[in-house]
Order: sequence, then C-alpha cells, then structure tokens
Amino acid sequence: MSEIRDTVILGSGCSGLTAAIYTARAGLKPLVLEGHEPGGQLSITTLVENFPGWPEGIQGPDLIANMKKQAERFGAEFQVAHLKAADLHAHPFKLVTSAGEIRTRSLIIASGASARWLGLESEQKLIGHGVSSCATCDGFFFRGLEIAVVGGGDSAMEEALFLTRFASKVTILHRREHFRASKIMLERAMAHPQIELRTNVIVEEVLGVDEKEVKGVKLKNAATGEEEILHLNGVFLGIGHEPNAKMFHGQIDLDSDGYVLTQNNVFTTRNGQVVPGVYASGDVQDRRYRQAITAAGTGCMAALEVEKYLEEHGH
Ligand code: NAP
Repeated sequence: MSEIRDTVILGSGCSGLTAAIYTARAGLKPLVLEGHEPGGQLSITTLVENFPGWPEGIQGPDLIANMKKQAERFGAEFQVAHLKAADLHAHPFKLVTSAGEIRTRSLIIASGASARWLGLESEQKLIGHGVSSCATCDGFFFRGLEIAVVGGGDSAMEEALFLTRFASKVTILHRREHFRASKIMLERAMAHPQIELRTNVIVEEVLGVDEKEVKGVKLKNAATGEEEILHLNGVFLGIGHEPNAKMFHGQIDLDSDGYVLTQNNVFTTRNGQVVPGVYASGDVQDRRYRQAITAAGTGCMAALEVEKYLEEHGH
C-alpha cells in the first residue's frame, strides 16, 4: 500500500504553486501533480504587468519558474502526472493518476482552466495546421502571414498584440458589437496599425481541411446573416477557458459550466455540505476574477485551511 500523504495539490499554476509554498513552509511536504499544462496559463503568456511587486512587469514563465523554485526550497515535491479519477467519499482520499494511485489526507484542487475551442469540425481537424489556442507557443510559425484571432476579451487582445510581432496582419473577429476586453487592452489593439477589429462576425467554418492547412474562414454577419470568406493563414482562439474539473463530477458540487462550487472561496461541497479536507483554488473555482493574483490568493487560503484541518485532526 502506498504511503498516505498529508496533502496533494492538483495543478502547478499560480494557485497550486502558492498553495505549495504555504503548505511546504508549514512542513507538510506537499505533492504537486503538475497536470496536462505544467505551470498553467501563466506559462504560456507573455508579459504580466499587473502582478504586484514587478513594476516593469514579469514574463509569465519566469513568474511561474520563480514560484516553483520557492516551493521546492521549502520541500514541495513535484510529479509529472495528471488525475484520472478520485474517490473523495472515504478517508484517506484516493487519487488515481497517470503515475499510479495516491492516498492523501487532504486535497487542494488547483487544476485551473483550459482554452476553449469553437467546436467546429473544421477547426478541430486543423489544430496544429494553422489553428491554435496559444499565441506564444505558435505565433512564430506565422511570420509574414495573415491571421485571425477570435474573441472579444482581454485574451483575444493580448494574443492579437503579441501576434503582430510575427504576422503581417491580425484581424480580430468578435461575435458581438461590444467588446468584453478592458479599456486599456482594447485601446492598444485599436491603435495598432497591423490589427483590424471586426465585430458581429461569427466563424462558421475554418477553410483548408482538404489541403491540411488553414486557407481562410467562412464568416456570417450576426446582424445581417450575410456570409463572407476571409482568406488568411492562421486562426488563433482567444475565447476564454473551461474549468478542469470533469473528473470530480459526482464527488463534489460543480456549477452548470463545470466550475467547482465553493463556500468562503475555497471550501468544496457535496450536496451543499462542506467536504472536510477538500479545497479548491484558482481558476477552477473562480469564474469572476480569474487573475493571477486572485488565483495565488485563493491558493494561499486553501493551504491555510489544509493546515488547520490537519491540525484539528491530529496530523
Ligand atoms: P473572457 O473575458 O471570458 O472573454 C472571452 C471572449 O470570447 C468574449 O468576448 C466572448 O464573447 C468570446 N467567446 C466565448 N465563446 C465564444 C464562442 N463560442 N464563439 C465566439 N466567441 C466566443 O475570457 P478571456 O479573454 O480569456 O479573459 C479571462 C479573464 O482573464 C478576464 O478577467 C481578463 O481580464 C483576464 N485576462 C487579463 C489579461 C491582461 O490583463 N493582460 C490577459 C488575458 C486575460 P462575448 O463577449 O460575446 O461573450
């Protein structure tokens, strides 16, 4: 039988790493399961300008690397594994991971959220052939080419601005008239000579499936219903994220969009009752703020609750 861990942290993004720093400093030797996207969303972003303490901003991957180093310094352990299934009904909790079974007295779910796709068949077939959800990963391949970024939030603006380093032209395609993006990001995109913003356009199809490379997009005007073909070489999705909590279905309460429901920010529930020992932090439970600093904040809260819980249970 495997040893029983004091605490396991699911996810190695900003929230999981903050929880790791706190629980490691408390001597709990946390095990961090790094998940499908080690480092989380910050690891695929560029300059983070609003994380306090970095007046000139800091590159997302650097911020994450620093946090990991800090957690390791206090004894946090990291494992390259993802969760396949969990049994949170009996103590100790049982986690079935890609690297084997783990038993733990407490759990922090900081599994974050992953990029959302449009769900078009053509889009799915062309992922890696001109369709991408990660500008920092794939932007390099579009040097001198024309591309589109789908979405109207800060992610879309940020991706579009970043992609101007490579692409000759970036067209932002937004399905509504009004943008969700913050004023500052929207203004930067609008002021950029390589960026064109189009509103009321719905992407109906990504063209190029037969050629195995993106040739364009078929658009429908949301107001008039008119269809149009836009010729371009790449399509980047910047339409938000989905919480990584499917594996907890039936174990803890999730909302209709799959986010972990919490009480007092980090306490998970089952049928509305708090599940002792199981906490959630960061984007997997936060559909409102979704910032690096709030993810770190709730990671800290979850870690402090773990400490309290273990102490109260004599561990
Ligand atoms: P978001 O704010 O939820 O925006 C998602 C955008 O995608 C919306 O404009 C939405 O359209 C559109 N969309 C969603 N599903 C779609 C679909 N199926 N087809 C077409 N369009 C679709 O998500 P986000 O931009 O990822 O931002 C998330 C949070 O992170 C926000 O709080 C944001 O401020 C923050 N963030 C900040 C920065 C920064 O400050 N540098 C960078 C990135 C993200 P509708 O508007 O019509 O719903």
